Amino acid sequence: MILTEFDYVRPAGLDEALTLLSATRNARVLAGGQSLLPDLRAGTVRAGLLVDIRRLEELRGITRTPGGPRLRIGALTTLAELSADPLVLAGAPELAAAARANGDPQVRNLGTAGGNLAAGGRATDLPVAAIAADAEVELAGPGGRSTVPAERFAADGAPAGTVVTALLVPAAGPAAAFEKTADRATRYPVCATAVRITPGGPRIAVTGATARPLRLRGVEDRLRGGPYTTDAVLAAFRAEPRELFVPGRGTSAEYLGHLAGVLTARALARAQALA
Ligand SMILES: Cc1cc2nc3c(=O)[nH]c(=O)nc-3n(C[C@H](O)[C@H](O)[C@H](O)COP(=O)(O)OP(=O)(O)OC[C@H]3O[C@@H](n4cnc5c(N)ncnc54)[C@H](O)[C@@H]3O)c2cc1C
Repeated sequence: MILTEFDYVRPAGLDEALTLLSATRNARVLAGGQSLLPDLRAGTVRAGLLVDIRRLEELRGITRTPGGPRLRIGALTTLAELSADPLVLAGAPELAAAARANGDPQVRNLGTAGGNLAAGGRATDLPVAAIAADAEVELAGPGGRSTVPAERFAADGAPAGTVVTALLVPAAGPAAAFEKTADRATRYPVCATAVRITPGGPRIAVTGATARPLRLRGVEDRLRGGPYTTDAVLAAFRAEPRELFVPGRGTSAEYLGHLAGVLTARALARAQALA
């Protein structure tokens, strides 16, 4: 039971959704409801109006951008669709793996890419893969359309009154991977890492162990040129400042830093094997 009152609308188009969001105090976007409804139930989030965007067909579908090597993943793409899509599996396998690692089949069938990116408050799987992939988040708001790098979006969240319309991901090929240690009760990441090996060196991002999803540029610099042996990766993580890793329930900064290194070494080995 949800012990809080709110209004509910199901707009037929994006413009109508944006008008409702900017005209109503404390309005919130509702997509798959897999974060928002538990949060409303727990009372950790309040809403005056839920704007249900699930009828907005323009937020669906996975396509290649015209003339460009990027994938456009509509915000309403479910995590189940994302995990099995042939374009994503071939061009951005770290994203497919992050979606596959998310929750359980029910969560993946209802939860959406846009919602997993926008759900603030606790570590989620997709943002770290989007950061490693150098993706951009496409937004629609009162001022029109804009794009924001995934790392900035993870830090700032969705600006008030905006809707995430898509994720734009460079389709670089298979040299990418995602690894996660999940909380045994909730399946949320204790720590998850995503890597993408590019001609300029590895891109490495971590979540769960850190205060928010972060690209670890220091680790990338230490590993540039390889080889990506487990010893080299663990040493690169040991050189990071300890305060980067934020102790959680039953975990220390040392443990989380080590875990992040182990998962990254595994992800780099998998990405190299796939390349
Ligand atoms: C049992 C369970 C297990 C879970 N396990 C995991 C896990 O292992 N890993 C993990 O990462 N997550 C996990 N989750 C959380 C869940 O997968 C995602 O956070 C969820 O799928 C978010 O997508 P949604 O479409 O359901 O968003 P909603 O719940 O509808 O919305 C989430 C938030 O994002 C906003 N929002 C949604 N879509 C948009 C949009 N297009 N534009 C702007 N704002 C938007 C909403 O206003 C809200 O604040 C779990 C959830 C449950 C219930």
